[in-house]
Amino acid sequence: MCRSTAGAGYTVCFPCGQHRQAAQGLLADAVAPIAYAIKRTQHAHSLAVYKATPPSAQAKRSLSSLAVMFIAFHWECLTGAAGGPFTHLVTVPSTRSRPGPHPLESMVAERVGLPALRPIANPAHPAEDRGFRTDRFCCPAPFRRGAGSC
Ligand SMILES: [Zn+2]
Repeated sequence: MCRSTAGAGYTVCFPCGQHRQAAQGLLADAVAPIAYAIKRTQHAHSLAVYKATPPSAQAKRSLSSLAVMFIAFHWECLTGAAGGPFTHLVTVPSTRSRPGPHPLESMVAERVGLPALRPIANPAHPAEDRGFRTDRFCCPAPFRRGAGSC
């Protein structure tokens, strides 16, 4: 769920509504937006350049601190919404085949002390495809569920 604005009479935006319908109950149990940014502000710039080539070290430090502080202040609420303690941290990989681990892995996972899972994007789906797919990403064994074949 993106948490953007929805039209009058709707609870979520059009793409999220399409995903909700296609997922048939398989969406996340809880969603906690951490950051949004206003165009042309420093925070918007940081969100744009933390994973640029080359990445901005300052942006990575700023966003890492923001994420870690958010997690620390909201840990009990997050684990409550999730129904129990966290065991792993997962970052959603690029669908455009950026090599290596997602920058959030070093910015967040390593700082909160949880092991990171590294799902991969299924190459059967085009990078620009934003439709809901149950096999869009695959986690490595033994975390794989179903018959996904990435
Ligand atoms: Zn949305």
